[in-house]
Amino acid sequence: MSAQFPFPCARCGCCCMAIVCPVGLEFGGRELPCEFLTFSEDVAFCILLDNGFASKEDIGADLGCCMKGRAVNRTTRAIVDWASLPLETKRGIVRGVQEGQGAILQNPSRKLR
Ligand code: SF4
Ligand code: SF4
Repeated sequence: MSAQFPFPCARCGCCCMAIVCPVGLEFGGRELPCEFLTFSEDVAFCILLDNGFASKEDIGADLGCCMKGRAVNRTTRAIVDWASLPLETKRGIVRGVQEGQGAILQNPSRKLR
């Protein structure tokens, strides 16, 4: 973790579902979720990292949660910073999105080119 990203990464995959990182773009990734994202159980993996095409430094792994997003509880309407959510909560929400519950919304100004 870093001072800039004080919350640990849960490897939930939410960031890679919301936007393709610069390394993914370099390798031609244009779809969302990022086509290089894969899961084992609820843990996210980057195919480019696992196959030696990118380093942890390249993709910012182990630096803390860099997700600049908010989560909205559909029941209570409470809004919280995504990065501050507990590990199991993040993974559970992403699992729910994959199963069709909820959605990960993007800032429209950050569309893929
Ligand atoms: S870290 Fe890997 S899976 Fe995530 S957006 Fe970048 S290339 Fe895609
Ligand atoms: S915890 Fe944050 S940085 Fe880690 S995979 Fe999830 S959204 Fe991305």
